[in-house]
Amino acid sequence: MPKNSEGKDIAEVNPKKCSGCQACVGECPVGCIDIEDGVAKITAEKCIGCGKCVMVCPSDAILFDKPIKKKVVKPAEFVESGIAAYKGVAVFIEVKDGVAADVSWELVGKGRELAHKLNTNVMGFLVGHNVKSIAAEAISYGCDSVYVLDNSAFETYVSRVYGAALTELCRQVKPEVFLIGASSLGRDLSSVIATQLQTGLTADCTGLDVDPQEKLLMMTRPTFGGNIMATIYCRNHRPQMSTVRPKVFKMPKRDPARTGEIIPFKYDNVVEPLIEILETIKMDTANLVDITHSQVLVVVGKGACDSKNFQMLEELAALLGGSVACSRPLVEAGLLPYVRQVGQTGKTVAPKLYIGIGVSGAVQHMVGMQGSEKVMAINNDKNAQMVQVADYSIIGDYVKVVPELIKGLKARIPNIQTQGAQQ
Ligand SMILES: Cc1cc2nc3c(=O)[nH]c(=O)nc-3n(C[C@H](O)[C@H](O)[C@H](O)COP(=O)(O)OP(=O)(O)OC[C@H]3O[C@@H](n4cnc5c(N)ncnc54)[C@H](O)[C@@H]3O)c2cc1C
Repeated sequence: MPKNSEGKDIAEVNPKKCSGCQACVGECPVGCIDIEDGVAKITAEKCIGCGKCVMVCPSDAILFDKPIKKKVVKPAEFVESGIAAYKGVAVFIEVKDGVAADVSWELVGKGRELAHKLNTNVMGFLVGHNVKSIAAEAISYGCDSVYVLDNSAFETYVSRVYGAALTELCRQVKPEVFLIGASSLGRDLSSVIATQLQTGLTADCTGLDVDPQEKLLMMTRPTFGGNIMATIYCRNHRPQMSTVRPKVFKMPKRDPARTGEIIPFKYDNVVEPLIEILETIKMDTANLVDITHSQVLVVVGKGACDSKNFQMLEELAALLGGSVACSRPLVEAGLLPYVRQVGQTGKTVAPKLYIGIGVSGAVQHMVGMQGSEKVMAINNDKNAQMVQVADYSIIGDYVKVVPELIKGLKARIPNIQTQGAQQ
């Protein structure tokens, strides 16, 4: 057995068994494992012999003499640990200024699909003040029941107050799955609840499904800089928690005729906020573009980043009644503001028409636009990934293609009024 510089026994990789999956790389607390030529390699000087890599290796390719038991949760333990008592898919209904966030309904729609596969129901968890009408709305979007915590203490969001209330609700109602929109509020709140419940939370998922055998929630999200999509399971803790950004899932149809149960949740122990909100200053958003709400997006990539041509791209967006968005290199170059960025570290968009101009289609960009209804690529490389996924492609130099498009649009609609792209 190899030893480190302090003479401690350390793990060893069997290269014949190693699949190069990188599970050990992510688990190693001291960063001593790298993948070289598709095989894990342990740096002996750095290794502390903790054996964590052994426990996560799915192909038993890491040898370690010390006795380490992989924790396998058996069905009996599930029952003992109370996991079997958790049932149903819960969705947090986020409310701001008396209006529910669309992402909550998108999650209710997805929650219905998951609940169908799990043979269970969908519950809305609604916290706020005077939110009765929103409970009814939640049912019309697909909830079977809505637990309501209506109290003036919930008028304004404070993570400690909301966190404690929803933690208590989860403890009592015991949902097996809990979905929260990855808005700034949802990101904050979900981490508070997951910490208090000591459960796992997979943030910014781009896909959710149910494992047909194990009936566990499969939470998919980009990892390792977006180059790999990881599907994460939360086996040993409940609820299985996930946050999902707006527009990742489609908005379900609203059915005002749907019926369901509205359950006022008795909760007397509202915790002290520890902070006092003196004033709430509303941002003037009238002139801010929200690319997530545009039906048409003209998305400028690095291949079309010459600022002297921006006017032409804005004109195209305006003719189509849309707005200009961009890939990350344009934000990094200071050519367009961050609010216009589409992708993993930008916004998730789902317009009716996405036109990528000089956008190659890197995976980190694609995860932010894969919900678009129709995709058009204008690119001088016919092999670009964006061209491969597009419904329509024009192969050529955008400097020549875009003026032709503008000319064609103007000819088609002679009296067209260019409203001006949303600036
Ligand atoms: C952790 C991480 C997060 C990231 N997050 C994001 C994100 O949120 N959003 C994002 O966009 N990127 C993100 N990236 C960056 C991403 O990996 C790519 O580098 C980026 O998306 C590439 O942008 P692009 O397609 O505009 O440029 P390029 O990849 O350089 O592509 C330019 C394209 O333009 C074409 N072209 C060149 N000239 C012309 C012309 N005259 N006419 C027509 N076509 C032309 C080329 O053929 C090429 O296809 C992230 C990266 C990392 C590591």
